[in-house]
Amino acid sequence: MALRKLTANYDIVVVGGGLAGLFAAVAAARQGANVAIVQSRSMFGGNASSEVRMHIVGADCHASKDNMRETGLIEELLLKNKQRNPYASFPVFDTMMWEMAYQQEHLTSYLNTAVQDVVMDGKNIRSVICYQYTTETEVHLSADIFVDATGHGTVGVLAGAKYRIGTESKYEFSEPSAPEVSNNHCMGDSLLFSARDRGEPVKFVAPEWAYHFSEEDLAIRPHTSRMVFNASDGSVYSEKKAGSRQLPDYYDSTSGYWWIEVTGHGDEMTRDSEIIRDKLIRCVYGVWDHLKNVGDHGVENYDLDWVGIVPGHRESRRLDGDYVLTENDILANRVFPDAVAYGGWPMDVHCDGGIFSKQPSVAVSYEGSYTIPYRCFYSKNIGNLMMAGRDISTSKMAFSSTRVMGTCAVGGEAVGTAAALAIKHGCTVADVGRNHIQELQQTLLKNDCFIPGFRNEDPLDLARKASISADSETETGKAVNVINGISRSTEEGSNCWISKPLKNGPVTLSLKLPQAETLSQLRITFDSNLSKSIMPSITRKAMEHQVKTLPLELVKDYDVQFVYQNQIVMEKNIRGNGQRLNIHKLDKLCCDEVRITVRETYGHESARVYEVRLY
Ligand SMILES: Cc1cc2nc3c(=O)[nH]c(=O)nc-3n(C[C@H](O)[C@H](O)[C@H](O)COP(=O)(O)OP(=O)(O)OC[C@H]3O[C@@H](n4cnc5c(N)ncnc54)[C@H](O)[C@@H]3O)c2cc1C
Repeated sequence: MALRKLTANYDIVVVGGGLAGLFAAVAAARQGANVAIVQSRSMFGGNASSEVRMHIVGADCHASKDNMRETGLIEELLLKNKQRNPYASFPVFDTMMWEMAYQQEHLTSYLNTAVQDVVMDGKNIRSVICYQYTTETEVHLSADIFVDATGHGTVGVLAGAKYRIGTESKYEFSEPSAPEVSNNHCMGDSLLFSARDRGEPVKFVAPEWAYHFSEEDLAIRPHTSRMVFNASDGSVYSEKKAGSRQLPDYYDSTSGYWWIEVTGHGDEMTRDSEIIRDKLIRCVYGVWDHLKNVGDHGVENYDLDWVGIVPGHRESRRLDGDYVLTENDILANRVFPDAVAYGGWPMDVHCDGGIFSKQPSVAVSYEGSYTIPYRCFYSKNIGNLMMAGRDISTSKMAFSSTRVMGTCAVGGEAVGTAAALAIKHGCTVADVGRNHIQELQQTLLKNDCFIPGFRNEDPLDLARKASISADSETETGKAVNVINGISRSTEEGSNCWISKPLKNGPVTLSLKLPQAETLSQLRITFDSNLSKSIMPSITRKAMEHQVKTLPLELVKDYDVQFVYQNQIVMEKNIRGNGQRLNIHKLDKLCCDEVRITVRETYGHESARVYEVRLY
């Protein structure tokens, strides 16, 4: 019983406001569904929020795989953040995510609200029962479709969804890197910290409850740039050995360590969450004590600036879908016919025991990327339940790659888009995969999501029939690329219109339609350099590798002319563009030609346009 009670009904309820849940909710609302998002804490973003401060990585592996950065809603958010938050303050980034949810039409947010129970109707969830502690209110939300983006799979477990936890043996899915025997080890929770150089020596007096770590305890945990790294087995040493190389300069002691990690077995990861957090606090202060007071780690002038108190969760349950993604799919760079998302991060399984273990954590790297089929995103036994984020249907090996936030983000956008399609067609979420998968894939591509192996085949896009020309183009950047259906560079080519240098004056791209058409929308996809990172990070070196401003390649100022029988019927002048995907809504405008004139970029010498669509 609570002091107040609130009941509401939606098309779709998303539970969990990490990046996966946030983008699922925003995507569904943008498709016109009536959506609610329930988030147990006071802000969105999950591990990317200022509570945890993990930087978002994904298929591009810290910009080491070219042109692989995720686009769609995540790109929109990160570009907006670059424009308005150039020094990447995490609390400011929190507001960007809050704004994205709160300004979204058709989306209602319930912050500080946790789902505690579900009401079932046979094999479907009828409603979730939540508690919003700030208002002392019990909140009952019913919907046609529920999305579990809790990370833990809490809604699924409450509803009786089939799930897996721990690690499969190598025989279950014939996975080469899985262990001989299955186990219930889960990767652990972590707390990060950040430290600042105060320009003078700063003493650190360790609290009496802090753990004590000797140099031997941390011998294989990279905690100073003086340590070296052995690429053959992933281990680190405090002294140079054959085949080892210097650690990357990310390990500079100022932004915490992923290996300050307390692991568990099976349900311990949620049941013992409070105990794990307390141990982590003792670990963080113990490691800082080690850095400051046990030998010389080059941190004499450093001072703790921020210490997390909300642990980031790495692993708990994975809900079973109609397909379980495995290591073999990843190693084969598999392109599924029902692909809706993709990943490319290494299979990054941490050792059992975390910081207290004497084993190194070894990641399995591979070339290229893989797709994730739609069948991984809905429950195999609960009819109206979808999953987004950490709890999608994968083996442990595949999970160790799909768990990173860039991959969770694009999966979340696919789930929200699919849920809205199910509402539109009045069908089940599984039926979207059986009967509407092309519509789902094409909608995602239209919204600037990337699905390797798929291209724009939207029959409603009038630009695909236009004749394309430009007053300036280059050998590798022909104007006609803007309708080749692929809106990023790939191994096959640039897929981009690249003009000659703008120093000679503005350049114009023209799309001439075979006959006059009544247009309601123009969509332009510019280049935002998908080979460089743009996420906020507490790691100084990660920020130093980024441009502080918007990507230099991005078009800043441009004009659009809508032309009918050689007369300009409407003109738009855009100044200070900050986005890759630009959508211009038109009021049923009759024209037979569209001209796009690029005047200035944020620094790059040429105009670069990947795609133009007309509806
Ligand atoms: C220390 C650490 C380091 C990592 N390093 C990286 C990295 O460098 N880059 C990277 O991209 N990924 C990294 N990962 C992985 C990544 O952060 C997670 O896998 C990812 O955040 C999962 O996204 P999610 O949206 O599924 O869950 P989360 O980000 O955990 O979000 C889930 C949200 O659901 C909410 N929630 C939970 N239960 C309920 C409920 N019952 N009712 C309502 N709301 C609920 C929570 O408040 C939470 O905000 C790391 C993880 C950890 C722990």
